[in-house]
Amino acid sequence: MKITLNPNAKDDATRNALVAEGGFGKYYTDHMVVCEWNEKDGWGEPELKPYGPLSLDPATAVFHYGQEIFEGMKAYRQPDGSISLFRPDANAKRFANSAKRLALPEMPEALFLETVEALVKQDAGWVPDKVGESLYIRPFMIATEVGLGVRPTNKAAYILIATPAGAYFDPSKAVSVWISTEYVRAALGGTGEAKCGGNYAASLVAQKAAAQEGCDQVVWIDAIERKWVEEMGGMNLYFVKGKGADATVVTPKLTGTLLPGITRDSILSVAKDLGYKTEEVMLSIDDWRDGVASGEISEIFACGTAAVVSPVGVAKSSMGTWITGDGQPGVITMQIRNYLLAIQHGTTADTHSWTHKVC
Ligand SMILES: *Cc1c(COP(=O)(O)O)cnc(C)c1O
Repeated sequence: MKITLNPNAKDDATRNALVAEGGFGKYYTDHMVVCEWNEKDGWGEPELKPYGPLSLDPATAVFHYGQEIFEGMKAYRQPDGSISLFRPDANAKRFANSAKRLALPEMPEALFLETVEALVKQDAGWVPDKVGESLYIRPFMIATEVGLGVRPTNKAAYILIATPAGAYFDPSKAVSVWISTEYVRAALGGTGEAKCGGNYAASLVAQKAAAQEGCDQVVWIDAIERKWVEEMGGMNLYFVKGKGADATVVTPKLTGTLLPGITRDSILSVAKDLGYKTEEVMLSIDDWRDGVASGEISEIFACGTAAVVSPVGVAKSSMGTWITGDGQPGVITMQIRNYLLAIQHGTTADTHSWTHKVC
C-alpha cells in the first residue's frame, strides 16, 4: 500500500477534544484510503492519504445513474487498549455481493480488509474509549467512467473514510415508527439485498412522511402483498414473543428484499447464547397489531451497526396506533444489546470468534 501521511493531521489535544464531543459523522479522521479499478488492469495499489475532497469530472457516471455501494462497520476499543473490528469478513462479503448487483467490480476480501486495517492503524487515536462508542468506518465504491452513456462502468473508485461515533443511545427512549403503506423500499429482483445509496435515496420521502406523522422512523412492508413486515429505515427488526426465560426472539425472514444485516445475523446467535429460542418468520402487520394487543409480543427492537440495538415503542399506521408493552425499552432488548456490546468491546468472551484484532 502506498502511504502519504497528512502533514496537517490534528494534534493529540485537538483530536481528543473532537472525539470527546461525541455525536456521529461530524468529524472525519486524518486519512482516507483510495483504490482505483479499471476493466483492463483490475484493482490498482491502494493509497492511504490525507482526508480531503475528491475531484471528479461533472460527467462522471455515479452523479447521473447512481452506480454506488457502501458498507458500515465499526472498530471498538478493547479493555487492554487494543482495537478490534467486529466481523469485518462479513462486511467484505456483503460488499462484494452489493458490487455484483450494481455491476461494479468485486473487491477481493483480502484487499478490503487490508485497507480497513491500514486506516484503523494509522488513525487509531480517533477510536474512542468508552463502551458504546466506536470508530465508524465507511467503505464505498463509485462508478468513475466519464460520459453520459448508460452502461456498466469500466472504471471505479473504492474509498474508505472513518468518523468517531459517540454513545448517542438514550436508554429511556424507544423510537416511534410509521408503517408505510404508501411507499415500497424493495421488490424481488430489485436492489433490496444490496447496500447501495439508491435504496436510501428512494426511502427519504417515506422517512419524511414518517416525520410528518410524528414518528422517528419508517417501517417497510413487502411490495407484493403489502402486509409482511420487512425492515425499519436502515435497520432490521426483531420481535420478542412471550416473556422471561421462555421468550422467543423472532425476526423477519430474508426473502430477497431485506438487507441481510450483520447485526441481525449476530443477534440470532446471541439470543441463543442467552437461552432464548429464535425464529426467522413471515410476520404480517396484522400479527404485529394482534400480538401487541394480546400481549404476546412483549418487546420490539431494531438493529444495525450504527445504533446496535434500538428499542421500538409506538407503531402508527393508517390502520391505527399500537403500543408495545409500556412503550419503554424492554428487558430482553437491553440484555441482548448489552451482551452484543460486551462482545464487541471485549468485556465478555467472544465464543463465536467474531472480533478481529487490528492493533
Ligand atoms: C446496513 C443496513 C442494515 C443493517 O445492517 P448491519 O450489517 O447490521 O449494519 C439493515 N437494513 C438496511 C436497509 C441497511 O442498509
